[in-house]
Amino acid sequence: MPQQFGNRCWYTSASSSVLGGSSVTSDAKYARGVPQDYAGWPRDWAHDRLLPYFKVSEDNGDYDMWKDTRYHSRGGELHVQRFKYIDKYMESVIEAFEEVGFVQKDINAGDAFDAVVHHQFAILNNTRLSANTAFLKPVRHMKNLQIITGATVTKILVDKTTKAVDGVLYERGKSKEQAAYVKREVVLAAGAINNAKLLLLSGIGPRAEVSRHNITLLQDSPVGLNYRDQVSFGGLSFMLEDVTSFNESQLVADFEQWFESRTGLLASRGIGQISSFVKSREDHDGPDIEYVLDGNFVRTNRFVMSKINVAATEEQNLPLPYYNIINVKPVLLKPKSKGRVTLNKQNPKYGRPTIQPNFLKENKDLQYLVDSVELVLQLLNTESFKKTGIKLAPIDHFPCEKANDREKWSCMARHYTTAMGTPVGTCRMGTNATEAVVDPTLKVYGVEGLRVVDASVMPAHVSAGIFAVSVMIAEKGAKMLIDDWKQIKDYYVYSS
Ligand SMILES: Cc1cc2nc3c(=O)[nH]c(=O)nc-3n(C[C@H](O)[C@H](O)[C@H](O)COP(=O)(O)OP(=O)(O)OC[C@H]3O[C@@H](n4cnc5c(N)ncnc54)[C@H](O)[C@@H]3O)c2cc1C
Repeated sequence: MPQQFGNRCWYTSASSSVLGGSSVTSDAKYARGVPQDYAGWPRDWAHDRLLPYFKVSEDNGDYDMWKDTRYHSRGGELHVQRFKYIDKYMESVIEAFEEVGFVQKDINAGDAFDAVVHHQFAILNNTRLSANTAFLKPVRHMKNLQIITGATVTKILVDKTTKAVDGVLYERGKSKEQAAYVKREVVLAAGAINNAKLLLLSGIGPRAEVSRHNITLLQDSPVGLNYRDQVSFGGLSFMLEDVTSFNESQLVADFEQWFESRTGLLASRGIGQISSFVKSREDHDGPDIEYVLDGNFVRTNRFVMSKINVAATEEQNLPLPYYNIINVKPVLLKPKSKGRVTLNKQNPKYGRPTIQPNFLKENKDLQYLVDSVELVLQLLNTESFKKTGIKLAPIDHFPCEKANDREKWSCMARHYTTAMGTPVGTCRMGTNATEAVVDPTLKVYGVEGLRVVDASVMPAHVSAGIFAVSVMIAEKGAKMLIDDWKQIKDYYVYSS
């Protein structure tokens, strides 16, 4: 979480966490959504205007992509590329989707309708690039940057009279709370859940919620109220016929090859490299379902459901490229259901904030998920699946097995609901302070010197994950911040 301090930039990262946040553990898939997704965003955030901010950090490594210079570029900090390794099941899945009407296309070039995709990931030399390795590491030497790790920000300090931000309070290990004061502004980037917590603890949020914890209200604001996450469910899995045993010596050889040259089977994410996007309703303005795939290895044919994947008692975790099960997760990309994030009732400061997700509360969300199953089952009748021997895995769909088909999938969607880890909207951006927490320049309504720059400002999801969008928001946020301070010449000093 960076804060400006004089001409210096401080960056803190919470204890027991990592620099780079969820980009360190995410799937690293790079997808931006389609232009229509941004139609409801403030005018300055229309897709055409955002393209330069997507492109500025992009270093595209696939020729068939970067030759399209309207949408892609090279030379930015974030290298994106497809994994080179493709196995026969990936090919088979692509072919099967093609047989049922999907088309291979570049989903980051304005059109993702009925697309089957071999994804680009944030990787360099087949190795993950996190927000830390791509953006922070190259500038760590800068004299005006100080990184404090293991620090948890506990409050934003706001002058009660002027409503100007003075700085933040933070804790590091067992040491006492310390203050970091700012001359210019604080940039909050603690993610959709913790931004809400910090703003609420600082007196910025819905009147009732702030008062409930005896915190002085500084700004009545809809903080935490527009929480949304993409959802999916488990139970739809395919079994690969010809993979029954696992060759341990092959695994050792694969690791050796990986360490020597970053190539081979381990230079891959397995079947997760492929997914497809569908617009399930004529009147929708973008793809609304993504069929996300992931593989795992199960050493038995007595399958049980474990969370959303198929598992078995003898199972061992193997790297992603080794799989004999393909789990298909239909992901509701643009959920209508909204939840809320509030402070922990017993311990607002140190307790985990409460998330009331309200997943599938809107009937349509459930309906679209259930409808999406039909297409997955169609894949089983494709020549491609028959040729490769991919079959439906005989899973015990407890407690939904007795219901008829549609009821069964509706039951599964409700029993095995899973959040995709893409929370947005708790500090939504908008043009009025009643509905939004930040204005279109990402400044928090009602206080001076506080910006929010991460996925929490997204008014709603785009038809993709949120990593590429978060990077774009950061690029645009940085530009707006620098432009603002450049206008006040004495304040702006650039040093490298
Ligand atoms: C398992 C998983 C897989 C995913 N895969 C993909 C994918 O393939 N593609 C995609 O587009 N998206 C994916 N996502 C989503 C995506 O990675 C992130 O959610 C997105 O990048 C959001 O970034 P953010 O900056 O808003 O928040 P975060 O990445 O959560 O960053 C918040 C940071 O703030 C720090 N912080 C929080 N509170 C404090 C505090 N009080 N003091 C100091 N620091 C604090 C945290 O430690 C963290 O470093 C995935 C998410 C998950 C969980």
